[in-house]
Amino acid sequence: MPAMPSLKVDNARYLITVDPQRRILQGGSVLIDDGRIRQVGKAAELASARADRTIDARHMVVTPGFVNGHMHISYAHAVRGIFPDDVGSPLPIVFKLQMAMTEEEEHATTLLGLVELLKNGTVCFVDPGSTKYPDACLQAYEDAGIRVILGDGVTDADAPFPLPRYATAEAVSRTASFLKAWHGRLNGRLRAWAMPFSMETCTPELLKSLKRLADDHDTSLTLHHGSGAKARQETQQRLGSPSPTQYLESIGVLGRNVVLAHVLGLDDAEIDCMARTGATAAMCPVTAAKGARGVGEHGRLPQLLARGVKVALGCDSPNNSNHLDIVRALNMAAIQYKDARQDMKQIPAETAVELATLTGAQALGVGDQIGSLEVGKKADLVLFDTQRPEWQAMFNPISNLVYNADGRSIHTVIVDGRVVIDAYQQTFVDEPRLYSKVQEMGEKLLARTGVKPGLPRWPIV
Ligand SMILES: [Zn+2]
Repeated sequence: MPAMPSLKVDNARYLITVDPQRRILQGGSVLIDDGRIRQVGKAAELASARADRTIDARHMVVTPGFVNGHMHISYAHAVRGIFPDDVGSPLPIVFKLQMAMTEEEEHATTLLGLVELLKNGTVCFVDPGSTKYPDACLQAYEDAGIRVILGDGVTDADAPFPLPRYATAEAVSRTASFLKAWHGRLNGRLRAWAMPFSMETCTPELLKSLKRLADDHDTSLTLHHGSGAKARQETQQRLGSPSPTQYLESIGVLGRNVVLAHVLGLDDAEIDCMARTGATAAMCPVTAAKGARGVGEHGRLPQLLARGVKVALGCDSPNNSNHLDIVRALNMAAIQYKDARQDMKQIPAETAVELATLTGAQALGVGDQIGSLEVGKKADLVLFDTQRPEWQAMFNPISNLVYNADGRSIHTVIVDGRVVIDAYQQTFVDEPRLYSKVQEMGEKLLARTGVKPGLPRWPIV
């Protein structure tokens, strides 16, 4: 393979580094070689630095690439928007559709998901056990150049909806084989995690075995985490523990490599458990708001951060959030707690940027490699085009990024030193053809599963 061309991002209008001093360099440049950041500084300091390709960034705001901590990419891209906005996301239908996906369909919906993620600046995402055919999708991850965290979604107990269910020993051996086969592939861009679906659908034996596997392979584990008063009551009745989080701690399934998904409705004792064990969280602010989950009453993001718990943001699924734009998700994280607490000091704009970059990367155990623009880190960058109305006028680039912009102004995306979105364009798939293919697949998927899509309340004539 020929060596990757070196790259210089030159003279950015603002370079938001998220480095330890949180410097914002006006007229900042970055030199990239062999997939890593070699120099960061003012344009004048890097004036003599030459690269195979130089990107003129004088009209750009440059940030670290964004991480997306909970992002199902499978069935929903083919049937996006089928659930009326007053019924949430009915899980039995979700998993019926998910389980009915064919290999070819999943490959196509994965490609579509990757196009949307990359165009909106996500450079690393966790697919929480949705992907059934990783072999078929591997080429898509390779071609797209994205970082992906995958796992074999497993359960070994009854669930109220169809999930991949195995005998405990089989679920363990499947996970062990998955970690062995996949972790570290694609030049380290692919990471494999243990992915039990949830505490309710997995026995304690399975959860404990999978945590041990994650430890042994020096990797992580994620699961959907029930929380709130009802989940606490159920845990008390079923397991004799005060809360789901305390239960997980009591069986040794919390730790620095455990990412709890959603975590709306934690109480103080549960936040203590997470802080004590170093467990992290992936929260989906748009899913929570759209699903009327009550962030005012249940959202504890500010308390988690105050206790030092690392939190990543996620876009969940195209039938939950329903977009894959992490810039819109960080905007929601910044505004929803202000409203919920009637306190404008909650989740400042800078904190929202951290959640989608360094803090999020730390939550996923990759904060030493990505999440900030620092010498030695992997070269994952997003360049926002400020030659657009929503970026005018600019005095505070953080404020403009969080409150004015969205993913549509993302001009260039670099992952591992490679330009994967170049002047708004990707080169790994024919988009119009893919769109019509996925639409057709969605229609067929609905027909063969007998699922009726929700239509507008207005007549289509
Ligand atoms: Zn999920």
